[in-house]
Amino acid sequence: MITVEHVTKAYANQQHAVSDLSFEVPQGTILGFLGPNGAGKTTTMRMLTGFMAPSSGRIAVAGFDTVKQSMEARRRIGYLPETPPLYNELNVRAYLDFVGRLKGLKDKKQRQARIAEVAEACWISDVLNKTPNKLSKGYRQRVGLAQAIIHKPDVIILDEPTIGLDPKQIQETRKLIKSLGGQHTVILSTHILPEVQMTCDRVIIINKGRILAEDTPENLIARSAGLQRVTLRVHGPQAEIEAHLKSLEIVQGVQYQRSDAELHTFLIESQAEGIQARLAREMVARDWGLYALQTAEGSLEDVFIQLVTNEQGGTDA
Ligand code: ADP
Repeated sequence: MITVEHVTKAYANQQHAVSDLSFEVPQGTILGFLGPNGAGKTTTMRMLTGFMAPSSGRIAVAGFDTVKQSMEARRRIGYLPETPPLYNELNVRAYLDFVGRLKGLKDKKQRQARIAEVAEACWISDVLNKTPNKLSKGYRQRVGLAQAIIHKPDVIILDEPTIGLDPKQIQETRKLIKSLGGQHTVILSTHILPEVQMTCDRVIIINKGRILAEDTPENLIARSAGLQRVTLRVHGPQAEIEAHLKSLEIVQGVQYQRSDAELHTFLIESQAEGIQARLAREMVARDWGLYALQTAEGSLEDVFIQLVTNEQGGTDA
């Protein structure tokens, strides 16, 4: 449904905001576009929506080139930018009616029926007569989603859709996004890892304008599965404990996390079998108080941090 081929974008007097991006998004997929701030997510979203042309390379949406066949491509896209474009002069119903007309829903009856449909799908039926300034941020975001899908686009592009929402609103918005998959192809840009884990079928990790990895969230998590992470809480002299942990051959990484008086928490990385038992023996043998020893679950965050940190080391050093 979406094809991106060797796309590069350079802003005036700038290094490349994105470099040589290539990927494909099959129909019905929810793709997470994940990267830290400044990675090039918004730049990519803007090129996908035809809002901006690539400096080089090519993007096609449903087979239409986003530059040469811009109108055709745009007709197939619904876009929710970081801040939804709402007008306080129009109540939600009038606004959706306006957007619907703009997007080619000419028949008034049809448009009204469609407004009722998207209002229900986005849980905004109860606020159709209100103006945006009377709505919470969660509701405004859902009105933004409703305007993005009103013309039943093949492709929905969402830029940081849950930013600034409270936890309940975030949960609802994610549920809503998930319900859009299958019928629509969705690209979701975010810097929030759990968002990808909860909503996306595939994920692209981007940093400094380049793709670092592309896979299913499950496969990406499995990549770090060989590495065990253990949280250790121990009572005793912090510097000595840390030095001892680092001196152990079976330990690959020691990260000091926090202290509560003399009780310290470390995150240990190891590839060795039986690392927990060994750590317990080491602590007890030195008469340090062992309070907790827990295996931390592998997560997308581990993979993300590994990839981004490796790259930082590789390019900045
Ligand atoms: P993200 O959305 O991942 O935070 P952006 O796509 O906004 O990243 O930015 C990627 C890079 O391009 C950053 O280095 C940013 O400073 C630069 N950039 C973004 N927009 C502009 C612009 N309009 N003019 C110049 N540089 C820009």
